[in-house]
Amino acid sequence: MDCIFCKIITGEIPSNIVYEDDQILAFHDIAPQAPVHVIVIPKQHIQSANEINEFNSPLIAKVFEAIPKIAKKCGLENGYRVITNIGEDGCQTVKHIHFHILGGKKMTEKMA
Ligand code: AMP
Ligand code: ZN
Repeated sequence: MDCIFCKIITGEIPSNIVYEDDQILAFHDIAPQAPVHVIVIPKQHIQSANEINEFNSPLIAKVFEAIPKIAKKCGLENGYRVITNIGEDGCQTVKHIHFHILGGKKMTEKMA
């Protein structure tokens, strides 16, 4: 499968890792849109949040358990934003479910 994030998981594509456990990987976004911009992914390839179901939702819960640990490690005590883009209208460019952690500044009130 030609998936950039699966290649990051295997190490075929290098990344700047922030957090890793047996099921989850987090790394700095290559084109940051905030002072802190980290991508959090499950190691299992799931296309997007639109493919979350009763079988894989425990893994997504693990992602959300990891997010506060990652935020703390990145010094985001004052808050942050978590975004997941889905499909064409959501402007999802990498078709492996991922959650953007954005912070290190006051975010804009408008979300879209
Ligand atoms: P999305 O547009 O929600 O699919 O987000 C994909 C994100 O992956 C973008 O913010 C890209 O900058 C980021 N990205 C793409 N390739 C890499 C890479 N090799 N290492 C780190 N981040 C990447
Ligand atoms: Zn993948």
